[in-house]
Amino acid sequence: MVFAEDLNLKAMSRGMLCKHTLDAGFGQFLNILEFVCWKRGVYFERVDPNLTSQTCPKCQTVTGKKELMTRVHSCPECGYTTDRDVAAAQIVVQRGVVAVGHTVQASGGIGLRRSL
Ligand SMILES: [Zn+2]
Repeated sequence: MVFAEDLNLKAMSRGMLCKHTLDAGFGQFLNILEFVCWKRGVYFERVDPNLTSQTCPKCQTVTGKKELMTRVHSCPECGYTTDRDVAAAQIVVQRGVVAVGHTVQASGGIGLRRSL
């Protein structure tokens, strides 16, 4: 299973990273990744990208916005400390697994694969 943040690239291109997000081909990368997963029979899902870098993967506390310079997630509630990108990835996996659970239970609706 592969999960990725469902990034709003248009909004990001207006924000802090400006047009770099469009130059870097993030959108194309995600499309190719989705295609490769489909070809290899690997489950791929985009998940809600909101607050992935501001939520503690251990206790789900919203720890607030980090500056780009801040590379470490350190939770004031539970003390969980790890690399910020690792923490964000853990949140993405958790959301993906929850979405997969909904797909199984609801037999359709959430988590249905987009056709390419
Ligand atoms: Zn925590």
